[in-house]
Amino acid sequence: MIDLMSSRVEIDLIKLKNNVEVLLQMYASKKISIMGVTKAICGIPEIAQVFVDMGILTLADSKIANLKKMRDAKIKAKFVLLRTPALTEVDQVIKYADISINTELVVIKGLSSAAISCGKQHEIILMVDMGDLREGILPTNLEAFIQEVLLLAGIKLVGIGANFACLGGVQPTEEKMKSFSLLANYIEEVIKGPLAYISGGNSANYNWFKSSKNIGSINNLRIGESILLGRETLYRTRIPGLFTDVFTFVTEVIESKLKASFPDGETGQNAFGASPQFQDRGQIRRGILGVGRQDVLVTGLTPRIDIEILGSSSDHIVIDAKRTDLKVGDEVAFDLNYGALLSAMTSPYVAKKFITQGSISGIKQGA
Ligand SMILES: *Cc1c(COP(=O)(O)O)cnc(C)c1O
Repeated sequence: MIDLMSSRVEIDLIKLKNNVEVLLQMYASKKISIMGVTKAICGIPEIAQVFVDMGILTLADSKIANLKKMRDAKIKAKFVLLRTPALTEVDQVIKYADISINTELVVIKGLSSAAISCGKQHEIILMVDMGDLREGILPTNLEAFIQEVLLLAGIKLVGIGANFACLGGVQPTEEKMKSFSLLANYIEEVIKGPLAYISGGNSANYNWFKSSKNIGSINNLRIGESILLGRETLYRTRIPGLFTDVFTFVTEVIESKLKASFPDGETGQNAFGASPQFQDRGQIRRGILGVGRQDVLVTGLTPRIDIEILGSSSDHIVIDAKRTDLKVGDEVAFDLNYGALLSAMTSPYVAKKFITQGSISGIKQGA
């Protein structure tokens, strides 16, 4: 397969190990456990194995197919379905997830029936909407909701969760986190026992974690991007001690010529319905890389050398190579943001290569 692909993602498993280790220790210092979120990397077993080897006990993914992939690869962890299940998925959820997050009673009833018919007990975490307005039960409705859940056989409530900065960009402030923590305490009184997971958020919770003097009863976070890309996600600041270059996107130069910087002729729409504007910089070193929007979210790529992406179409990225004398066959390396990572990892056209020693090798960058 790899031979058929002109681009790849290189995954440095040594740097990845470091990121998992640093984050586990940091969050453990205030008694917070981490669910390792694998959805941006499609539940690739090689990466999931690193998470588990470094001490993450729970892996979370939004796709059942990814949970199945990790189970089939004999990854030893507790598996969480990180998106509220579709009604049609309940049987698969019982089969492949130990825990699922939920927000709809009708779905939990479906899970209950499915669990009963296989003689299993399924654990659930209820998501509470703290204002970001993606998934979640409204705090005022939570108690009544839980009373209904407690009546269902085959279902065990093991936690509540909040999600921040995903859709609305709402921040996990000290105040928000405190009210979530108080809500959790209240629910523990209602159910007359402890919640195993009081899961306060994701990679956007870093600043709260660092600055908060009292994290209340929050005991878990679901972390993806910080592990993979080394950043918190409110401002995309690098977290001290983490690598931001675990992943490298590498692609090959397929054309390199001195050409004009300004299109010649009357212009209309391009292939994607846009009417791009170009700056006239005279003759430039125009290079073409053999990948495009079919392969990766091009706007999420940042070149590691001083070149500029001028535009892209389905299968081409056009660059201004500036002072670099790029030759056909040279390779060019990029950093990926979350969107680029997600797209490249899911693309069947992009090879995945694991680096297990030293740092990134084999990239020929220009002359
Ligand atoms: C994706 C996701 C996460 C992980 O978010 P990161 O920003 O990658 O840490 C956590 N919780 C839920 C519900 C998610 O969908």
